[in-house]
Amino acid sequence: MFHATDLAPTDDRAALESLGTVFVADIHSTRFEQPCPAQVGGCCTVYPTRPMMCRDYNCALLLKVEEGAIGEADARVIVDSATTLRDRVHAGLAELDAGWPRMLGSQHLTQRVIRAHKRHGSSPELEHVVDDALKLQAMISEHFTVRPDPDNAP
Ligand code: SF4
Repeated sequence: MFHATDLAPTDDRAALESLGTVFVADIHSTRFEQPCPAQVGGCCTVYPTRPMMCRDYNCALLLKVEEGAIGEADARVIVDSATTLRDRVHAGLAELDAGWPRMLGSQHLTQRVIRAHKRHGSSPELEHVVDDALKLQAMISEHFTVRPDPDNAP
């Protein structure tokens, strides 16, 4: 959702490519940048053929929904807030990054913030982005960190 996703050899790369997914081949894997273009309105449009990494991703929020600790509507509000914040951070950083080599989604937001700071020094624009990025990191850590699936616990 926020950085990058690795494809397994058996994953359907073509479905994602047809949606304009940006792939980054490296020595270890084939990964694609987030935000994923297959996500539309909070739903996965390639759900039946989604990558293995997506299938295995059990974030804290999903587990809470499955346990009945939070309703789907409330979970959707959290997802929508996080994606709005993410888009704001990416847009703010894109402006501050203008003219610089593109940093890929797999590179942590913090690195982009540090680079923007080196380039621009402190500025109100950067402070807004940093503020949003900190809120986003807090949301990711609270709601979207991967938790072990209790059904597959050793
Ligand atoms: S679950 Fe679907 S929308 Fe989400 S990252 Fe995977 S392919 Fe993209």
